[in-house]
Amino acid sequence: MTTPTIHEASREAKIVDKTDVVVVGGGPAGIAAAVSAARNGASVTLLERYPYLGGLASGGMVLILDDMHNNTEITVKGICLEMIEQMRSWGLCVVPPMQDRMPITRETDQMWRKWARWGLFDFHTNSMPHPICFAAAFDPDAFKRSSYALTAGANVKLRLHSWFSSSIVEDGVIKGVICETKEGRQAILGDVVIDTSGDLDVAASAGARFEESSFILTTVSRWGGVDTDAAEEFQFSEPEKFAELDHQAKRIIGGCWNFWWLKTPLPGIIWLNCPHMPKYSGIRVADLTAAELDGRERMQRLMEFARANLPGFEKAYVVDFAPQTGVRQTRQLVGEYVVTKDDVMNRRHFTDSVCRGRDYYTPYRAMVPRDVDQLLVAGRHYSATPQAQKSSREIPPCMAMGEAAGIAATVALNAGVPVRDADVAAIQKQMRAQGADPGDVPSANANMLEAAE
Ligand SMILES: Cc1cc2nc3c(=O)[nH]c(=O)nc-3n(C[C@H](O)[C@H](O)[C@H](O)COP(=O)(O)OP(=O)(O)OC[C@H]3O[C@@H](n4cnc5c(N)ncnc54)[C@H](O)[C@@H]3O)c2cc1C
Repeated sequence: MTTPTIHEASREAKIVDKTDVVVVGGGPAGIAAAVSAARNGASVTLLERYPYLGGLASGGMVLILDDMHNNTEITVKGICLEMIEQMRSWGLCVVPPMQDRMPITRETDQMWRKWARWGLFDFHTNSMPHPICFAAAFDPDAFKRSSYALTAGANVKLRLHSWFSSSIVEDGVIKGVICETKEGRQAILGDVVIDTSGDLDVAASAGARFEESSFILTTVSRWGGVDTDAAEEFQFSEPEKFAELDHQAKRIIGGCWNFWWLKTPLPGIIWLNCPHMPKYSGIRVADLTAAELDGRERMQRLMEFARANLPGFEKAYVVDFAPQTGVRQTRQLVGEYVVTKDDVMNRRHFTDSVCRGRDYYTPYRAMVPRDVDQLLVAGRHYSATPQAQKSSREIPPCMAMGEAAGIAATVALNAGVPVRDADVAAIQKQMRAQGADPGDVPSANANMLEAAE
């Protein structure tokens, strides 16, 4: 059955700004893209639908920055590391000290007990306990605060409460975007537009090719009043009893990672990165609505079980549910190169690598749409197969992509060339100058086979 439609009369939108670069989506990738472009001399507008910056890292209450360390070196640095250091200086971000991390030592078990409930371990290894690695547990409001400090410091023009609705495209070239706001429709023009909406809203509207996909949705929440010392003591001193109760808790949740609760920098406050809800799409209104209710209901039942049965949880209470539904995957760009799971898992190196994740490389071509000019895409909706994205979508690599995209925009504008032809060597050089790792120099374990075009 086809859904009936109505015809809307064409409407005008006030042009409220014009800058060199327009970044749509103020999440991790968008913040890095805007700051990076502005620091390189571009005038930049950053648009965000919600009244805060940070995307899933603040509104989604996704509270660990990981996938930035390959057990030898930190592979995502630059703006991501800058934010970590800033949040640490406020006492709102926790990183395992060097002596607690790799290599595996005879103290591994001891380190595991110390850090497991922070979630700061390398979950890509099959060995248990997992090795402790460089990763950061942070506070969501600190992420917002740091985002504002960085964007203000770089003179980024911020427009919150601006919901992108359509791209302005002329002859295959994007010229700007239109937003819905309380003041009505507004147009913001730019010479380069960077789509960091996570759901590829801009590129899809502009006519770029994409693949629709989906992964699990989650209504993340935080609980307070938890005696985490007592809970950890129970886990490690009575493993069999713990396993039995943990199993019951997981049945109530109905799908979660092994550790369904983790500590945060705020004492007694834990975050719950669950439940896993695979049957919903993150871009369908009915699904998003149903997921919100479904997730809340499961977590309420879990709370009742935890208070009655789990040591340390007797006085637990709900602090909040994340204002933003946890959407991991919706649309993936089909760009000039589509990164595959094999590329990610086997560390394929690309000569046009402009940033890295854990130990994989991201080619510039994976940020460039095939069919629209002056548009770049950075973040979880980049050009990758859905399977590849599952292993390469964490916050730090998305920030690294944003940082590279911001540089690429300015490199192209300064050279007067289309952004798809931006000089990759210049992007790599500037990434290094900013303290970021472009992945131009492959590490010892990189796979040097250049991927087929
Ligand atoms: C439940 C869950 C747990 C996760 N766990 C981890 C973890 O432990 N560690 C980790 O590193 N990563 C984790 N991830 C992945 C990570 O959070 C995301 O992949 C990452 O945040 C992607 O960053 P992004 O900037 O590409 O997108 P997002 O964080 O989604 O940001 C996109 C931004 O664009 C804005 N936006 C979207 N549409 C519009 C529009 N139409 N108009 C204006 N603005 C718009 C959004 O409001 C948002 O601010 C998790 C994800 C989820 C959902």
